[in-house]
Amino acid sequence: MCLICDRIKMIKDGTNPYFVKELETGYVVIGDNQHFRGYTLFLYKHHGDKTELFHLAPTERAKFLEEMTIVAEAVSKAFGAEKINYELLGMGEAHLHWHLFPRVSGDIENYGNNGRGPVWWYPMEKMYSDDNRPGEEQLADMKCRLLEELKKLI
Ligand SMILES: [Zn+2]
Repeated sequence: MCLICDRIKMIKDGTNPYFVKELETGYVVIGDNQHFRGYTLFLYKHHGDKTELFHLAPTERAKFLEEMTIVAEAVSKAFGAEKINYELLGMGEAHLHWHLFPRVSGDIENYGNNGRGPVWWYPMEKMYSDDNRPGEEQLADMKCRLLEELKKLI
């Protein structure tokens, strides 16, 4: 089973502490690591052989993109982003999932082009350091804020 399917199974079992909300095409979850405060993922509900946006039927794709956009807006409002960065990658896990990074000036310190550039110019070991995992209270607060903004938009 892939990592994303694992996390979705946890949501269905009621054991995923990062789960925020189920939408028609996917699940909203807070990211495990929070160097980029408010980092959120939107996990497509199905895996199978649909691993590219162009594998989805047009109506399904439109809905998936529309919902991702709503999640991005909610993330932006909940966490005060200057800009949202969107990533749909999948070389690690082919399961369709959006990474939504709220960006603020200075968040990659002086890495990249004098502190400007994509999130992946920030060192991986710092981005995924255990010391930026949200505590229980912080996670509860983030989920609450994001859910509140989502409810206003849906
Ligand atoms: Zn999967």
